[in-house]
Amino acid sequence: MPKPEAKPHILALANQKGGVGKTTTAINLAAGLAELGKRVLLVDIDPQGNSSTGMGIRPDDRKRTSYDLIVDGASIQDVVMPTSMEQISIIPANADLSSADLEIVSNERRSYLLHDALHRPEIDGYGFDYILIDCPPALSLLTINALVASDSVLVPLQCEFFALEGLSQLMLTIRDVRRSANPDLRIEGIVLTMHDRRNRLTAQVEADARANMGELVMRTTIPRNVRISEAPSHALPVLSYDPASKGAEAYRALAREIADRRKTPATAEA
Ligand code: ADP
Ligand code: MG
Repeated sequence: MPKPEAKPHILALANQKGGVGKTTTAINLAAGLAELGKRVLLVDIDPQGNSSTGMGIRPDDRKRTSYDLIVDGASIQDVVMPTSMEQISIIPANADLSSADLEIVSNERRSYLLHDALHRPEIDGYGFDYILIDCPPALSLLTINALVASDSVLVPLQCEFFALEGLSQLMLTIRDVRRSANPDLRIEGIVLTMHDRRNRLTAQVEADARANMGELVMRTTIPRNVRISEAPSHALPVLSYDPASKGAEAYRALAREIADRRKTPATAEA
């Protein structure tokens, strides 16, 4: 039987800590999924606009942004831009978004604005398989908007001391969002980033995470890799910048781990 037109899977990259690898994972997971033949929309909702920059969208070229989508009700068509990778489109962000929380707080649909924007029928025309939302480093209204809009949330966790500290607050926020607005929100997983196999602390964080969070911790870990940190200054995902690097290999594996879960087994259609 032919499959019905599939809706895109919407996945938020969230962790209220900065510098843990949300943006890096958003960009490179997008590239990994693209290599698997998926069409991906990357939605940058961090006012710092790092994923927009990392995908080569110059600040001057960000005429319409996720601010217009979320705050002003702009259409998808108004804000979507192509990137240098054919399979990946982006809705960029810039500093306009830094006032968004204040501007939407008195709107009665303040937590649903991104959800509503991404669930308009016009999105189907693009044929996206995945929509990845790169969140700001805060449990702000913008991050709540991402969690309400998403099917699942992937949490990058940096392998360092205190890594697990902020996790319980994020888990509470996810629970609140499930209770109030999005009961179907799943935790895609926790992905350990900047993993250094020779480092005792990394081993400790990994052991703690796997002991406490069990199956939620992704099998794939992302190594600390200099090519990963160099790639954004070339406006490329590491998969294009240095396709054979350890970092590129790891993000390919992460994309496969996530995409494999969405393969519908032939028997499950009955
Ligand atoms: P966030 O979006 O959570 O603030 P970023 O993805 O911007 O975090 O990462 C923070 C910094 O760490 C960036 O300079 C990035 O290039 C670097 N970085 C991220 N992941 C890795 C990695 N696996 N190896 C080396 N550097 C990394
Ligand atoms: Mg970021």
